[in-house]
Amino acid sequence: MATRKRVAVVGTGTVGSQAAWRLAARGAEVVAYDRFAPGHDRSAAGGETRVFRSVQTDDGRYVPLVRHADALWEQLQTETGRELRRLTGCLFMGPADDPEMRTVLDVVSEHGLDHEVIDAEAVAKRFPQFRVDDGDLAVLDPRAGFIRPELTVQTAARRAEELGARIRRYNPVREVGPVAGGGVEIRTDTGTERFDAAVVTPGPWVGDLLPDLPWRVDVHRAISAWFLPTEDHQAGEQRPAFIRTGGTHFYGIPSPDGLSVKLGLSQAHHKPVDDPNRLDRTVAPEELETFTAMVRRHLPGLNPDPVRVSAYMEGYTGSTRPLVGPLPDCDDVILLAGFSGQGFKLSPALGDIAADLALEGRTSQPIDFITTLDRTTA
Ligand SMILES: Cc1cc2nc3c(=O)[nH]c(=O)nc-3n(C[C@H](O)[C@H](O)[C@H](O)COP(=O)(O)OP(=O)(O)OC[C@H]3O[C@@H](n4cnc5c(N)ncnc54)[C@H](O)[C@@H]3O)c2cc1C
Repeated sequence: MATRKRVAVVGTGTVGSQAAWRLAARGAEVVAYDRFAPGHDRSAAGGETRVFRSVQTDDGRYVPLVRHADALWEQLQTETGRELRRLTGCLFMGPADDPEMRTVLDVVSEHGLDHEVIDAEAVAKRFPQFRVDDGDLAVLDPRAGFIRPELTVQTAARRAEELGARIRRYNPVREVGPVAGGGVEIRTDTGTERFDAAVVTPGPWVGDLLPDLPWRVDVHRAISAWFLPTEDHQAGEQRPAFIRTGGTHFYGIPSPDGLSVKLGLSQAHHKPVDDPNRLDRTVAPEELETFTAMVRRHLPGLNPDPVRVSAYMEGYTGSTRPLVGPLPDCDDVILLAGFSGQGFKLSPALGDIAADLALEGRTSQPIDFITTLDRTTA
């Protein structure tokens, strides 16, 4: 009989909680660490919602990974009976000749994804919450909607615990390193533990924990702002999430209770974070100017004064492709970091891939374009 592998998960956030679930489900002995507790909002997760979408706006190579994630989202919901994701659709909008809109159209046709192309006139009629310009186009992704990030992290972590994983809360890992002869050692303020392998998912703290990484991950501060409609919607009306390209790139997600709409801007609008331990969570009035301008220009049904604002942080690689795979000096340490604004929708698939790599040393998922193996630049 094969011996049971002992695997550490460093960081029980978005990807780490999913990795703990997948590892525990596959019979590993799992110990997961977090500097806070699962579901906290001091890093990349938090803020009530994230977009799930089947259609990728930048790179069709993510499509098979999104499909794998999609199946695991369903599985986690079924296993736990929690509504982690609601499929309300996602509307991509922008000038018909915008390169991102062209990529969306290329990706849906190349991968045979369910979609609907809607011209500007029809958008104005069907979705009066948006002000569109002549020459705009919209693509509706019906297998899309929103994810509830805090609930997802807590649910995946709880499911992992039900399956036998132990979670060491408020227990920052200070060092992860290989042990002579194989295996990994994890050092915390309370002691040192040995494992057969470690899955390392520290999000924005990756440079803090692994200062000698050969790849650069820059941490950026992203603001979310919530806006109220000027009139009540019809009860039970499900409005889609949306992404607007061309000019200022921004996205919006109706809140799960239907009472507000959360907006976010693209990476170009994020400030750098020098130290993830000192994220500035205060949002200055001038940081809201672009949000207000977008509401005035494109979202006529919203009051342009935000009712809530929050700051989060995320790790970005130079290519925006995440780093997934072993560290150069240690096959037993599997790194997953630098999700560059893409990680939530993919997180169950990333957790499953982490389990493949930690338990079997390989995965059948198509990760050639994001693997750390032979990768010289981030
Ligand atoms: C505002 C915003 C909006 C976004 N919108 C979307 C979206 O709509 N759709 C989408 O798919 N993605 C979206 N993303 C991206 C997505 O949220 C991230 O890619 C994802 O959350 C990153 O997951 P992670 O596991 O790497 O990091 P995290 O979720 O931050 O987890 C890292 C965990 O590691 C812990 N940790 C760190 N260091 C240590 C240590 N030394 N010891 C122990 N624990 C440690 C932290 O406490 C944390 O819990 C968005 C990101 C932001 C910031």
